[in-house]
Formats: sequence, structure tokens, C-alpha cells
Amino acid sequence: MKTAEKAAKSLSLDSPLPDVPFISESFAAALAKGLKLITVLDLLRHFPRRYEDRTAFTPIGDVVPGTTVTVSGKIAGVENIPTRSRMVITRVAVKDETGVLSLIFFNQWYLKKQMEKLTGQTIAAYGRVQRLNFGRGTELTDVEWEVLDDRDDSLSSGRIVPIYPVAEGISQNRIRKTMWSAVSILLDLLEDNVPKDIVDRQNLPDLTESYRSIHFPASVSDRLAAERRFGFDQFFNLQLLLAAKKRQAKKHSGTAFTSTSEAVAELVRVLPFAMTEAQARVIEEIAADMREPLPMNRLVQGDVGAGKTVVAIAALLIAVRNGFQGSMMAPTELLAEQHYMTVHKTLQQLGVKTVLLAGSLTQKDKDQILSEAAGGLVDIVIGTHALIQNDVVFRKLGVAVVDEQHRFGVMQRAALRDKGRLPDVLVMTATPIPRTLTLTIYGDLDVSIVDQLPPGRKPIRTHAKPTGDRPAVYDKVRALVNEGRQAYFICPLIQESEKLQARAATELALHLGKYVYPEFNIGLMHGQLKTAEKEDVMELFRDRKLHILVSTTVIEVGIDVPNASVIVIEDADRFGLAQLHQLRGRVGRGVEQSYCILIADPKTEEGRARLRVLESTNDGFKVAEEDLKLRGPGEFLGTRQSGLDLLPFIDLLTDSSILLAAREEAFALLQRDPGLTAPDHERLRGELTRRYRSMIEFNGTN
Ligand code: ADP
Ligand code: MG
Repeated sequence: MKTAEKAAKSLSLDSPLPDVPFISESFAAALAKGLKLITVLDLLRHFPRRYEDRTAFTPIGDVVPGTTVTVSGKIAGVENIPTRSRMVITRVAVKDETGVLSLIFFNQWYLKKQMEKLTGQTIAAYGRVQRLNFGRGTELTDVEWEVLDDRDDSLSSGRIVPIYPVAEGISQNRIRKTMWSAVSILLDLLEDNVPKDIVDRQNLPDLTESYRSIHFPASVSDRLAAERRFGFDQFFNLQLLLAAKKRQAKKHSGTAFTSTSEAVAELVRVLPFAMTEAQARVIEEIAADMREPLPMNRLVQGDVGAGKTVVAIAALLIAVRNGFQGSMMAPTELLAEQHYMTVHKTLQQLGVKTVLLAGSLTQKDKDQILSEAAGGLVDIVIGTHALIQNDVVFRKLGVAVVDEQHRFGVMQRAALRDKGRLPDVLVMTATPIPRTLTLTIYGDLDVSIVDQLPPGRKPIRTHAKPTGDRPAVYDKVRALVNEGRQAYFICPLIQESEKLQARAATELALHLGKYVYPEFNIGLMHGQLKTAEKEDVMELFRDRKLHILVSTTVIEVGIDVPNASVIVIEDADRFGLAQLHQLRGRVGRGVEQSYCILIADPKTEEGRARLRVLESTNDGFKVAEEDLKLRGPGEFLGTRQSGLDLLPFIDLLTDSSILLAAREEAFALLQRDPGLTAPDHERLRGELTRRYRSMIEFNGTN
């Protein structure tokens, strides 16, 4: 298409990029292929991944080892240096008036030619300054660089320069120029969906200004204001959906259960322990929900070992005592099996019939259970996600419990609801998340927190040990086992394959049995075992017939063997913080002093930081906050689940005020205009429908 023709076309935010006058067909193709940018809006929302302050380059003579810097200078020489390990190191000398340094690239032999051609030209380079290498001068690694045009290039120097994600056929320079044109020409197409009064009240920059500042900020404070604006918008939209969903749920009628306190009293009678205050309080919150004629939608949060299972049992029993059935879903077969044993043991004394829909059942037994569930002959069905496969039908499902809900996708949570005619839903999670995030993802749920551990628990002692200390660790474990305790050993994490993971566990078990603990009985647990085999091993361990259980992370969630008081985690720095905290939660469940030993020689600062966090606190909320700091919200939550897809930079911990403001404004707005039918709100309604239609958790009608 010729430019004149293009210009004649009127553009909208949905226009395909080839229709844009300053974008060629071939560049549009590269943008689509490499960055998935299809429309004008996609392009405008292609935010920088970081910025470089090039208002003043650091003089090469002044760079400080251990920092990251941006320097500018002329290319003065290039060499490729082969290494013994068959790598190639490319050293590029860059020079300014104050000195010379070398840019270091690994295994990019082709760079040499490219750099040689650029000799004498001025480049900007960003990277990490290495600690002094004797005799080799200053070196910069992890380098990003670009050529600065000879003529005064106002986009790539002398300002805060945006650095974009790029891809094949898209240079930093080119995308920056394209973005400059986009910001100059296309911003008029934007329409602000957030009602003006809200923007004003929250002191947010207007939308056009925000786009300009996010791409080409005039100052750091302008950029931060723009980030606040985008953060606000996103939270605001999300909170509106959650608010809408919550309002909608309240419209449906659920079941009003009556004899709730009687059921709870019955449970108290058969429990082998007294409930903690926190458990009693949360159960009362649940009972209050269940008495209402509206469907319950409650999240129970509580740290590992806080005793959430009892809370679930109370909800199940309330449903059963009112003539309904209950279901409980767990993320692993092992946990489903354990829940079955606990629930069955507790409630059979009260004449309640509980069954386990186990993966190991024969088809015949499975059919039997299914028909009993459909006929109302069983009271409680426990299982894995097999529960939500379509053939499970309940006669009268009153309450559906989802344990370790963070392990399930939102889709699965939604599907469970459809099982009965709007049963009460109770989701439980042991992965505590900061309060602000709870509101974000679970904003449609009411939240109860079991914030107290059962009495007599001693804080777990956590120690990080280098691999060289293994013999001492082994001795410590031996002493504990000789005192009658049991131990878990968790084998190193191998991401690539279940099979390799199973092999790692097998090898560790063989090694320990043969060379370290010939006198002990050692069990082996991993994901490749058949269900029945897993059950057998777990039973042996529970019955104290095994002293040590060597396992992969299949025991990570929920497993409860109070006599196990030490867990040794190999290569601990390779696990995530949340995962380590969960694993640690397998011990400290009884009255004995428990230990968590993290064996690792961490190679990265982040790995070291993770171990330090665990050594310093047992509090899951603190662990979660640190985790969030180390990983950022996207990875922490998995973007799919959170809906925080566009949030590259908001610091949720320090900036939670913006989230809370967005939430208040959203809920207040729906209060004022529940259908968003006012003319001022029409665009907002359109935008919400467009953006979130495909996300089941937001479509409000299920
Ligand atoms: P969570 O699921 O919250 O991690 P569990 O429900 O598995 O924790 O409970 C952990 C352990 O604490 C279990 O062995 C359970 O029997 C025990 N427990 C729960 N509540 C109490 C209590 N109030 N007093 C004593 N022990 C309790
Ligand atoms: Mg649990």
C-alpha cells in the first residue's frame, strides 16, 4: 500500500499496523511475528522494559566495579579469543576522553565482523562493570549496546531513553523511532475509559500524557506518574469485574442451612483435640455464610500446619447435617488419600459416609461410587480434579471444598461450582499472599484467616548448610531417628522430566540406604509410582515402619505426618521460596522440635537470598512478601491466574495504596451505577466486555 493511500484511511486503535503510514509492510510483519504486535493499540502498549538515563553518560574513567552503567564511546578495536572450553570471547574496546574499557560477549563470534565495520563510530553500551581483573583493565559484561547516529540523535541520547523488548528484524533504534512516531501521531486515537471524576480525584495524569511519559519520559517523576496511572487502570478494571461478579453472586439463591451450631458441636465432640480460637472463629464465619440463602464464596488462608483441614470438615458436616452432600478436592492423589483418611476417621463416628474417588480404583468401583454420589447414598466424596470431570454428578451438593486452591487453575474452580445448583464454595490455600494481592486475585471472595498455630508447636529451626557439611547433617538426622523421630529427604529438583526426577530420588534412596543409613528402613516416593504403590509407601511411613522417606516434591503440599520432625532438602537453592516454605511445612506438625536443613552451595545472589529468608522466618506471609520482591508479581502469581497481564513495573508492595484506591473507586462506581449504563460509563463497559470476555473467572454469569 502506498503512503498516500494509507494516509487516506482513517485509523482506529484496532487498525492493523500495515495501515499505519510510518510502518512498512515488512516491518509490520516483523512486529507481528517477533513481538505479536498486530494493532495500533498493541503497538502503543508495547512498553519499554527499562530505561537508560542518557542525560549524562558515565565517563569510562569513573566506572565502579559491581555497578551497572551506561557509557558512550568510539569502538577502538575488536578481537575474538578462543577459550579452552571451546567458547569464544569477543572483546570490544570502547574509548572516550577519560579511558578505555572492554565489552565482553560470550560465544557470539559473528559480532567481530559487525563490530569491525563499526570501528570509529560512537556507541552507547549498558552493562555490568566487573570487579578488577588484573592486567586486563575494566570489563563490561551482560552488555546491551547500540550505535548512536553521527548527527545529534535526540531519541537515543541526551534524554531518558526507553529500551524496548525487541526481536528478529527489529532493532532497538528502529522500534524507538517507530514508537516516537506513534506517540507523536497516534495518541489522539485514545479514549479514556476511566471516568474523569475518578482520574481527577486520584490525581492521575490523563491518558495521552501517560502514554507519552511511559515511552519518552521527560523526567523520572513523569514516568512514575504514568506507571501509577497504568497500574491504577489495570487494577480498576480488574476490581470492577470482581465487584460485578460479587454483586452477581449475591443475586443467585443458594441454600440456607439451618442447624449449623449443632453440627459444629458434634464435630467438637469427636475431635481428638480442642480447636484453636482461630479455627473456631473461621468456622463461625463459614457457618454464618452457610446460614445465608446466598451461595458462600469464601477463601480460607492459613499458613502450613495451621489446621485448615478441620475447618473444611466443619463445613462438610454442616452440609451433611442439613441433608446435603459435600465434596473436597485436593491437587494430588496423596493428599486426597490423606484427606479421605482424616475425614473418614473423624466423621464415621457420627455416621457420615465418606468415599475416596481414587485414581487407583477399578472402573467397576469407580462406577459404584459415581452412582452412589448421584443417588445421594454417600455424604462426602473426596478426590483430585477427577472430581470435576464431567461424569461426577451429585444428587444434592451443598458444599464444595477446594484444598490448596493455588494449585488449581481458575477454570477448575469455576467448573466445580457448576457441579451442583450453586453449592457453597470454600477454597483453602496455604500459600499466603500479601493482603493487597489477595484483594486482587480473590477480590470476589470473602476471606478468613487461620492466623494461629495449634498449641505446643515449637518454631521449626531452619539451617542452610554447604554440601561439605553433609556428614554432620546425616549424623544429626541419625540422632533424631534414634530418638524415635522420622525424616524426609527431598532430592534435587530436575525440571525437565518426571522420569529423571524419579531417578534422582531412587538414586538418593539407594545411596542413603547403602552408605549412610544401612540400619534404617528407607522408603521411596515419586511421581512415577503407581497410585497403589504411593499409598502403600505413605501408609508405611505414617505407621512408622519407615524411618526415612526419600521423595520428590510430590509430598510438597498437605502431607501430614506429625512424627516426622526433620526434612533435608538437597540443592535447596534451586527451589522457589514458596515451594521451600511448603516443603518445610511437612515438619513442625507435632509437639517435637523440628528441623529443616537446606543443603546447597548457591551460585547466585538470589539463591543465597532465598535461603536467608527461610532461615530468618517461619512466617508464610513474610516469606511470600520476600518472594514477591525477589520475583515480581508476574512470576509470583502466574499472569494467567492473576489477570495482571499488563503490569510490568508497579511495585505492589510499596505501591499498594494505588491498588486499594482502585478497589474503592471500582466498588463505589458499581454502587452508583451497577450496570455502567450512564453515558459517561459506556466506554468503560465496552472495554471490560471486550477485554475479559474470554476469561471465565470474570464473566460474572457462571
Ligand atoms: P494445614 O492443612 O493447615 O496445613 P492440617 O489441617 O493438616 O494443617 O493440620 C496440621 C496438623 O495439626 C494435623 O496433624 C492436625 O491433626 C493438627 N491439628 C489441627 N488442629 C489442631 C488443634 N486445634 N490442636 C492440635 N492439633 C491440631
Ligand atoms: Mg492442608
